[in-house]
Amino acid sequence: MKVGVLALQGAFARHAAVLTDVGAAPIEVRTPEHLSGVDALVMPGGESTTMSMLLDIAELRQPLVERLARGLPVFGTCAGMILLASAVADGRSDQESLAAIDMDVRRNGYGRQIDSFEADIDVGGGLPDWDTPFHGVFIRAPVVERVGDGVEVLARVDDNPVLCRQGHVMVASFHPELTDDRRIHELFVETA
Ligand code: GLN
Repeated sequence: MKVGVLALQGAFARHAAVLTDVGAAPIEVRTPEHLSGVDALVMPGGESTTMSMLLDIAELRQPLVERLARGLPVFGTCAGMILLASAVADGRSDQESLAAIDMDVRRNGYGRQIDSFEADIDVGGGLPDWDTPFHGVFIRAPVVERVGDGVEVLARVDDNPVLCRQGHVMVASFHPELTDDRRIHELFVETA
């Protein structure tokens, strides 16, 4: 399966390496032509305001909106999650959301003192392979403040959802590409 990694800005290189590890063929996506050649897409962490602007400059926003509407499997981590959410608090006024998953997020919502932290995450939901927790690295992560009824919450940290899925859209507020644990990328690729 050809899995695109949005490569406009941010932590895309590690995602590509992990995708190779789990048997997918990663393709860096920078143009509409690249996007049309992929079967699924990872939207990495980075800076959502910059990424939103670069989506417009690269003329990727409209093709991406269309692919998402047609069911493109997508996995957004951190800034990628912010871009996919239906509403963003503390974003920039010109930051446009793709509204692909019914949730509200607050940018940098974990606050200054703990704007980066690590936590062991229990992934439940009856998924196979989750008898041990996943070590999550949170970097200036967004807080999920609301999820719609159609959203499955696969894991929480201190009551806040941190891994969610709605149909073909999966999001994580942490960086699963930064540890050696491949289970979250496997989950995405298996279900894409
Ligand atoms: N705080 C960043 C943003 O608002 C996200 C941080 C990240 O992706 N690690 O886009």
